[in-house]
Amino acid sequence: MHLSLGNIYRILEAHFYYGRFEFPKGSGVWYNGSHQPIITKELFDLVQEKIKSQVLEPKYAQKEFAFTKIMTCGLCGSGITADEKFKHQKNGNTHRYVYYKCTRIKDHFCPNALINEDDLIPQLQSLVDDLDMQIVPLREKITEELKRVKKFEHMLLGNKNSAVVKDIDIRNYAKFILQEGSVEEKREFIRCLKSHIVLTDRKVSLR
Ligand SMILES: [Zn+2]
Repeated sequence: MHLSLGNIYRILEAHFYYGRFEFPKGSGVWYNGSHQPIITKELFDLVQEKIKSQVLEPKYAQKEFAFTKIMTCGLCGSGITADEKFKHQKNGNTHRYVYYKCTRIKDHFCPNALINEDDLIPQLQSLVDDLDMQIVPLREKITEELKRVKKFEHMLLGNKNSAVVKDIDIRNYAKFILQEGSVEEKREFIRCLKSHIVLTDRKVSLR
């Protein structure tokens, strides 16, 4: 089990230089850096844009999908596979869409609908809210990682409350991994859930 902290460090660092960061991303919890922003927002956004286009494109070329092996079709019981489509935008960027769908191995005419990964991830994140984190095998590993993150945060910001890892932190970290983690981190997390995930007409559920 390997949860890399690389992503988190990069994000914390980038937002630190901008002076303000949200952690975990998407949580609505914002921290103010204890220093004046070193770069302007315009430059910050530009750099982020650059990093995205350079870092993400080669990764996309590998055709790796995070959530294929962990779901089965709720209608026919076949596995779930994925495919990708690229949309070229006017500004020169390329947007990648990932779709998950039934392999139709057990039922050649299975009518289960496709789901876009952008719609899938928020659903997986809300499943995290339903989990009993006490019995999630990853709990200890996540707690350990969070302590490291909090130490790092303390180093940067001198945040006094940084030592305590709460249940809400663990959930938020799990959601963060689902959104921002590498393909391997996402797979690892889902594998450790032990519950089976079923996909039926664009809705996921635990079984
Ligand atoms: Zn099916």
